[in-house]
Amino acid sequence: MKILTAYPEMFPGSLEHSVIGKALKENIFKIDTINLHEFGIDDRMSIDDEPFGGGPGMVLRPDVVEKALKSIPEQHNIESKKIYLTPSGTILNQEKLRNLSKLEKITILCGRFEGVDQRAIDVLGFEEVSIGDYVLAGGEIAAQVLLEGCIRLIPGVLGHPESLLEESFSNNLLEYPHYTRPQVWVDSLGNKHDVPEVLTSGHHSNIKKWRLNKSIEKTKNIRPDMYINKEQKQD
Ligand code: SAM
Repeated sequence: MKILTAYPEMFPGSLEHSVIGKALKENIFKIDTINLHEFGIDDRMSIDDEPFGGGPGMVLRPDVVEKALKSIPEQHNIESKKIYLTPSGTILNQEKLRNLSKLEKITILCGRFEGVDQRAIDVLGFEEVSIGDYVLAGGEIAAQVLLEGCIRLIPGVLGHPESLLEESFSNNLLEYPHYTRPQVWVDSLGNKHDVPEVLTSGHHSNIKKWRLNKSIEKTKNIRPDMYINKEQKQD
């Protein structure tokens, strides 16, 4: 993975920890950052400028982005999927992550300020991807979200790969609720809370049925849009 960023020190960041960090240590994936500031222009090595047409904020220059991209070995650039993270891109979802996780090479451009000159995105072939309907200050955290979502899907990364089969979004459903010990939890006010009885019954087909019903109930309540999609797909 190659990351074009004005803040290379933000990587690997969260990707250095837990199962993803283990995969990084085991070289299941590799992250190289390319510092946009090394390709800045003029004496101040500027990477941004004012927007044409006026308005607040600064925009990352296309020539800087091109120079930074061209510093990556050409073969990588030819084979690599290029993504520019932006709130105005298509929304990232689990299916997209599944597809990305099959790719060997991904190049991610992290924006800052008001964003990136559109010509760089169009001419250099970046796909615009958003991690959700909200605005962050920069693309670095968004890049870590995308990469973490992808990397956990690479075979060998998760200790229990079967957990991918039933998790949220895998069947157009949200996942059912989980419970663990203690079986009866007494909270700090002295109230007792039991685990749903079926889960301690040892009756596997009833547990399966209960979980599916809970998934459906939760999806209908929280993500009716997703449930409608599921029903339409089945028609
Ligand atoms: N002016 C832009 C707009 O209104 O769409 C917002 C720019 S934002 C302050 C700066 C950078 O943060 C963006 O270029 C992008 O790289 C990143 N960013 C912010 N929100 C994001 C999101 N939801 N998904 C992906 N990247 C995001």
